[in-house]
Amino acid sequence: MCFKKVSKDEKIRQGRVSSPFGYRKHPIYHTKHFHRGNDIVSHDGYVYNTLDGKVRASRFGDYGEGYFIQVLSNINGVDFYANYFHNKENLVKKGAKVSKNDLIAKQGSTGESTGDHIHFEIYTYVSNSNNPFVERIKKKVKHKIIDRRIFFDSLKLLDALKEI
Ligand SMILES: [Zn+2]
Repeated sequence: MCFKKVSKDEKIRQGRVSSPFGYRKHPIYHTKHFHRGNDIVSHDGYVYNTLDGKVRASRFGDYGEGYFIQVLSNINGVDFYANYFHNKENLVKKGAKVSKNDLIAKQGSTGESTGDHIHFEIYTYVSNSNNPFVERIKKKVKHKIIDRRIFFDSLKLLDALKEI
C-alpha cells in the first residue's frame, strides 16, 4: 500500500466545495451541527457518480434529502453507500449499474437546501469496524460515527481508495 499523488480527473471535483465535512452552523436551523458530507457546487449543473456500483435508491427522500441518488459500491468486500442529495432531477433508476463519472442527476435545491448544490456523503456500517481495510481508511480519513454508520469525509475517502 502506498499513497500516491491524487489525480483530479473526477467529474465531481470539477465543482467547488461550498461547505466541507465537519462541524458547522446548520444553514437552516442555525444550530451547531455535524455536516456528514461535502457540499459541492457543480461546474456544469450536473451530478456525476464517483465510485463504480449499483443504484440502491433514486427517489424523493422524507428527511430533507430532496430528490436523491444512493449508490452502493463493494470495495475489497466492504459495502460503501454514497448519497447525492438535493437533485433537481434524477437521471438513473434504482437497480442501474453505474460507473465512476457517469451522469446520474441534474443538480438542484430540493429538500432542505438553501441553493443549488450537491450534498455528497459516503458511509459504511460500524459493523465493518474490525475489517483491516476499513481500519486503514479510518486512520487516513476524517470520519464520524452516527447512527451505527461511519461517515467519511467523502472527497478524502475517494483519494484514500485510490491508494489503498
Ligand atoms: Zn450538505
